[in-house]
Amino acid sequence: MRIAILSRNSNLYSTRRLKEAGEQRGHEVDIIDTLHCYMDITSNKPAVRYKGEALPHYDAVIPRIGASVTFYGTAVVRQFEMMGTYSINESVAISRSRDKLRSLQLLSRKGIGLPRTGFAHRPDNVDDLIKNVGGAPLVIKLLEGTQGIGVVLAESKKTAESIIEAFMGLNANILIQEYIKEAGGADIRCLVVGGKVVAAMKRQAAEGEFRSNLHRGGSAEIVRLSAAERRTAVEAAKAMGLNMCGVDILRSNNGPLVMEVNSSPGLEGIESATGKDVAAMVYQFLEKTTRSSTRTRGNG
Ligand code: ADP
Ligand code: GLU
Repeated sequence: MRIAILSRNSNLYSTRRLKEAGEQRGHEVDIIDTLHCYMDITSNKPAVRYKGEALPHYDAVIPRIGASVTFYGTAVVRQFEMMGTYSINESVAISRSRDKLRSLQLLSRKGIGLPRTGFAHRPDNVDDLIKNVGGAPLVIKLLEGTQGIGVVLAESKKTAESIIEAFMGLNANILIQEYIKEAGGADIRCLVVGGKVVAAMKRQAAEGEFRSNLHRGGSAEIVRLSAAERRTAVEAAKAMGLNMCGVDILRSNNGPLVMEVNSSPGLEGIESATGKDVAAMVYQFLEKTTRSSTRTRGNG
């Protein structure tokens, strides 16, 4: 197959691994810089142009769209879709996953376990907002944050009020979430490909820290999932419409709770923690899916 990886940086571990694994399996794999693509969106013969030329037809694209380029990146993916190229994650699913609030609402509607969560912009009654998610301690998150930045643990109601008021002063959208203390500063990252969990790791926060992000000094190791955790990860991926994603789960006394679903999950942490060839599994899925969709493809 001819496959394009949409990525801004060909030196990133995940991008390199995806290219290497595809080539090992006999595919022709190009890395295309998403932001350098341009296109005539009104043409009745949709194409993507790159470095002065129209790109060839690709059988599949693997979008690696960073959060900061979601808007343009999903437009490029959509253009490929219009050309009949199969995208491992559809553009609409990527957009959906980038909106934390919309994602939680969707997961909630599907009955997937979530930490009790409130959402606010300018509440007149902070007291009620706090009560509504079960009171302190609680976790306050900036809606626009990533890599654990803008995620704060408020141990007491007083602290919670101050933080909420400070964020309100910045005109920010915030999530207020029950603190899952029994998770013990750990979360589980499940890598889902094609409706199956292909690898899972436990990330443990550094001493004195409750956020387990690797960027915040957390460490990772392979983990065995319970049947309920596996089911939750698969259902969350399905609810989001993502064929390839990272589902982050907290282990609570009430079972697995989904924190978020990432549509461009990094491969470095999970491949090194589990020793699994996740990149190869991405191609196994693409090979199977594009074979069957070629057979069944109708008039588009
Ligand atoms: P980001 O998307 O910026 O990584 P997260 O919402 O995933 O932010 O939070 C970062 C980390 O903080 C999580 O990986 C988890 O370890 C911890 N955490 C987040 N929310 C909660 C919560 N409600 N209860 C306990 N720990 C949490
Ligand atoms: N960038 C990684 C991912 O989304 C997460 C790294 C971290 O936990 O800080 O897969």
